[in-house]
Amino acid sequence: MKCPNCRTKEMVVITMMVGGEQVTLHSCSSCDLRWWETPEGATSLAGVLDLAAAAR
Ligand SMILES: [Zn+2]
Repeated sequence: MKCPNCRTKEMVVITMMVGGEQVTLHSCSSCDLRWWETPEGATSLAGVLDLAAAAR
């Protein structure tokens, strides 16, 4: 998937488990666009940190 912002680079996609939830980070190394997704939909870094905090 190409970056929808700069359209020059492929997005880097990293999937990890945070607090028992699958979280996917999409990141562009060219323009620094990034967003997070869970199976429920898009989320923010704050939402990811909430998942991590809730797991403790
Ligand atoms: Zn980009």
